[in-house]
Amino acid sequence: MTAAAPDSIETVLQSLIRDVPNFPKPGIVFKDITPLLEDTCGFRACIEALAERVAAHKPDALVAIESRGFIFGAPLALHLGLPLIVVRKPGKLPRATESVAYQLEYGEDRLEVHADAILPGKRYALIDDVLATGGTAEAVVSLITRLGGRMACAAFPLELGFLGGRARLAGTVAESLVVYG
Ligand code: AMP
Repeated sequence: MTAAAPDSIETVLQSLIRDVPNFPKPGIVFKDITPLLEDTCGFRACIEALAERVAAHKPDALVAIESRGFIFGAPLALHLGLPLIVVRKPGKLPRATESVAYQLEYGEDRLEVHADAILPGKRYALIDDVLATGGTAEAVVSLITRLGGRMACAAFPLELGFLGGRARLAGTVAESLVVYG
């Protein structure tokens, strides 16, 4: 008798991500990652697979985006033995910050990073949960590069390929574990 082949990370993620139609508003299919977080083996496999992808680009540090980017960025940083830099919503970081504005469907939003957290010439891996339109990641790439940082890669467990987000990261390699559409 031969042992069954282990499921691919794509299969594992697809089985542990729940589609929630019409959340947070009509027409959006929300990718709910909470079943993945509740499954220790699946979550560990996700972090290990992301770590392998990110390590190949040899970053000096990770930059995780509030808030679901933190869920993946923190264990990934520990796993890879790399510093973790947090990009936060306005008013959350206590020291001098650099900020970036980006467009939402209606209006605009901002993200901030400690101005001294990004070191000129160092290579950064951006981490978030979902690459959708790419607007958030594009804004954070511009924040990192404005401060003199270089991009090693951008990495996401999930990508909504039909929204074309990776095209907005021109020049930055995007890694994702499972691509929808
Ligand atoms: P975007 O700027 O469009 O690439 O969107 C990025 C952020 O929005 C990610 O940090 C996700 O957390 C969230 N997001 C966008 N679309 C979805 C979706 N369909 N399901 C879950 N999260 C989403």
